[in-house]
Amino acid sequence: MSPRDDVWVLTVGDELLRGEIVDSNKAFLSERLLRLDLETGRHVTVPDDAGAIEEVMREAVGRARVVLVSGGLGPTRDDITTEVAARALGRKLVRDVEVLEGIQGFFRSVGREMTENNAKQADFPEGAEILPNPIGTAPGFMLEAEGALLFFMPGVPRELYRMVDEQVLPRIAARLSGDRLVRSTILRTFGMGESTLDRELSDLARDDPDVTLGFRTQFPDNLVRVVARAPSEEVATAKLVAVVEEIRRRLGPTVLGEGERTLAEIVAELLLEKGKTVAVAESCTGGLLTGALTDIPGSSGYLLEGVVTYSNASKVRDLGVPPELIERHGAVSEEVAAAMAKGVRDRSGANLGLATTGVAGPGGGSEEKPVGTVVIGLSDAEGTVVHRYQLMRDRTRNRELAVHVALEWIRRRVLGIEIPGETFPRATPAGRRPA
Ligand code: ATP
Ligand code: MG
Repeated sequence: MSPRDDVWVLTVGDELLRGEIVDSNKAFLSERLLRLDLETGRHVTVPDDAGAIEEVMREAVGRARVVLVSGGLGPTRDDITTEVAARALGRKLVRDVEVLEGIQGFFRSVGREMTENNAKQADFPEGAEILPNPIGTAPGFMLEAEGALLFFMPGVPRELYRMVDEQVLPRIAARLSGDRLVRSTILRTFGMGESTLDRELSDLARDDPDVTLGFRTQFPDNLVRVVARAPSEEVATAKLVAVVEEIRRRLGPTVLGEGERTLAEIVAELLLEKGKTVAVAESCTGGLLTGALTDIPGSSGYLLEGVVTYSNASKVRDLGVPPELIERHGAVSEEVAAAMAKGVRDRSGANLGLATTGVAGPGGGSEEKPVGTVVIGLSDAEGTVVHRYQLMRDRTRNRELAVHVALEWIRRRVLGIEIPGETFPRATPAGRRPA
């Protein structure tokens, strides 16, 4: 018999097969399991059909060490995962008194009558270990059968995410670690392509079989997943720390941070920590930069104002950009970006003024300033920085990338790192079209 796969992920639901809902749970589950160095061998999606669920469950139990099942734990008639699991694994269903009381209490507290349908959520296959669901009514459960460890979770993503992180991963880590412990982390990078990252770093994994590196794009960032394995937790942690240190040494400021945080979150934290304030003047990004900065709770602690100055007249009126500058150089120019950045800093009193101006496309490009030309300006007490980029992407991506570059400028300025010029990021030098 072929060796078992680490993991199979089974997602249940007609709506997934109809394409009405994107199966985000399977991606989440597999990504989380990778952190424990467990690779998914199969993603299987089945309809809300007892025969189909039973068949794939039987197969999964023989073929995987860990089986993760999402969906069909709810109270409605099409929620049949629990009873099918009991049948597939030859277990009786038993009602859990404590869970039942919890459900009854919930209905009392909202003043509604509990139906038999709801009581069904207190039934579990014999031998199951119940996994609490603090933000929903259907608990999950864990079962061991025929050498496989099975986890059943609600389909609602929010509930599933929490159950995975709090209940499922710790149980899997405890059971399957054996004599090899795994530590992993994610490094967020910006400004270097995936193939360059691979070239710069691949020897780290090649020279040590207990280190794995994975690369993935989360536009416009590239994420590097680092996994380290060792016989003990201390050694695994030490190995991970050493590899991360080496990656940071090689990549320098290309590494934005470690863990789940986005660039906007990293920038927000940095500004608060250093007590710096910003104000932004936006043309081609049309408020998206202000949006990114205000997405983060507590943004009033560092953002003083964001103005969208789309027309030439508004750049003159609201930012004090001299009209001659626009006439002579055009609204998309180093001169105007610098004046916008200084203008918004002066009128707001912020430590840093940021400005974006560019040709987002698809129209409006010229020989001298083709679509994708973006000029970013920064003004602070030390002076002014302006760079022109040639992003050469579609309108949406041009704008997203311009916001990202502006955020990265803030990060670098606050950290005292040089702000890169024309060749950054994945951009071609202005005025020169890519071959
Ligand atoms: P409920 O108690 O809400 O019925 P459940 O455990 O029975 O929970 P489902 O009925 O299968 O779960 O799914 C509930 C909702 O969760 C679905 O309508 C859908 O919006 C979402 N959902 C289910 N499965 C997935 C999935 N694989 N990926 C993303 N969303 C999902
Ligand atoms: Mg349901």
